[in-house]
Amino acid sequence: MQINLTELFTRDGKELDVTAELDMTSFCASDGEYELTDSQPVKLHFTNTGDRTLTVEGSAQLALLIPCSRCLEPVKVPFSLDLARTFDMKLSQRERAEALEEQPYLQGYTLDVDQLVCDELYLNMPMKVLCKEDCKGICNRCGANLNKTACDCDRSSLDPRMSVIQDIFNQFKEV
Ligand SMILES: [Zn+2]
Ligand SMILES: [Zn+2]
Repeated sequence: MQINLTELFTRDGKELDVTAELDMTSFCASDGEYELTDSQPVKLHFTNTGDRTLTVEGSAQLALLIPCSRCLEPVKVPFSLDLARTFDMKLSQRERAEALEEQPYLQGYTLDVDQLVCDELYLNMPMKVLCKEDCKGICNRCGANLNKTACDCDRSSLDPRMSVIQDIFNQFKEV
């Protein structure tokens, strides 16, 4: 959802409360696209703090389906995001765009709430997601999900780097 902030400029000290629905159904992270689920309307509070400066504060609640780092099963990861930004409207459109880098959530006087939430998600993405602490992962030989099934593969070398070396070694043996 996009919010036009022009009205907020009419008066220093002017405040604005907005509840915004998210339009996005997925989040494109650096390492993949994750389905969005359980998203609540985003509550935002804008203030014109004078000197052509706007602040926004708010919160967003949502969850993403992120594959488990070990077994790749989707895991519902909840996020409770605190949104706080200051917009210096004295900067030119170009200077603002540069300050925002890849997330152009502010275009002119229009705030793109989805982009703002994405920007915050980037900062909050977990390094690693596990479906459970003791997830057994997938067999690096046959790909079976070892939480659900057992397999008869010889996994004596569990280190994937070692298994690559072993594969090369086996290739030489076959020649
Ligand atoms: Zn898992
Ligand atoms: Zn296996």
